[in-house]
Amino acid sequence: MTADPLLKVTNLTKVYTGRPSLVGRMLGRAPVNVRAVSDVSLSVNRGEILGLIGESGCGKSTLGRAILRLHEPTAGKVEFGGTDITALPAPDMKAMRRRMQIIFQDPYASLNPRRTVAEIVGLPLQLHGLAKTRSEMREKVALMLEKVGLKAGQLDRYPHQFSGGQRQRIGIARALISNPEFIVCDEPVSALDVSIQAQIIQLLQDLKREFALTYLFISHDISVIGYLSDRVAVMYLGEIVEMGPVESILARPRHPYTQSLMSAVPEVEASDKSQRVQLSGDLPSPLSPPSGCKFHTRCPLAIDICRQRQPETERVGTGHTAACHRLKENLSLLEGARA
Ligand code: SF4
Repeated sequence: MTADPLLKVTNLTKVYTGRPSLVGRMLGRAPVNVRAVSDVSLSVNRGEILGLIGESGCGKSTLGRAILRLHEPTAGKVEFGGTDITALPAPDMKAMRRRMQIIFQDPYASLNPRRTVAEIVGLPLQLHGLAKTRSEMREKVALMLEKVGLKAGQLDRYPHQFSGGQRQRIGIARALISNPEFIVCDEPVSALDVSIQAQIIQLLQDLKREFALTYLFISHDISVIGYLSDRVAVMYLGEIVEMGPVESILARPRHPYTQSLMSAVPEVEASDKSQRVQLSGDLPSPLSPPSGCKFHTRCPLAIDICRQRQPETERVGTGHTAACHRLKENLSLLEGARA
């Protein structure tokens, strides 16, 4: 792996505008803006896995889709291989999509039940003109099915004839068939049985090596993220609150939210229990996010300034950043707990 950014995201923001209900419109209510992703900056080096972790509804999937322009960003820039893709016209973006793919969370919902595996996996070949004849397409799909652990003889079957794990393998084959460089893996194992999850994670690792891929791996599961990632970005209510090398994030999480995610992992040593941060309450609604630091409504370290001012992102170690007003005090607490 080289420190060569394949993907660079700068101040990316995605705002959805919701129309008020019929009654709301009759009462003259204005459309509601939801800031699902707010000013996110990050980069992913070629050959790297950047793990993106956060609770359901925090904006992880929206960020993944905005990066690929499946949902158009409201503001900010996405550069891929040195090209600003946010400025690309539609035909150029279509060509770029061959190089940037996505694996979806739900292998049941993401495959068209009326299409055969050959048609589903072969579609990107058609879209990008990568197979001249039907037989060439079938040959390429058959080869790819074998790469993901399915059989070439299953080409003409339909999605319902496969198990959940096999369907996710079909989704992976569809993402890989156009020979991309970068894949957004959007919770690719969360809908699967635990026994199948490890197989799919292993497959994604093997394919990454074989095809020299780069992943943005989205998950709400810190164990999966910790196992797979080279670097980790922690997201809370649309913002990146901490980011750094996986070893540093796991051994020395500096943001109280990251600490609370770590506390939920049973394998954390008993000696570290005194530093555990218990997460209370639910994720606030992005419709009316808290003022200042968005985590203040759940943070055990919150003080007045947290409610008033958004914290700046600060460097806390090599390649490790966090956004919190109480980084120094929190470090003393961490060290005290370890002493
Ligand atoms: Fe907690 Fe304040 Fe830090 Fe936010 S800024 S994480 S509320 S201590």
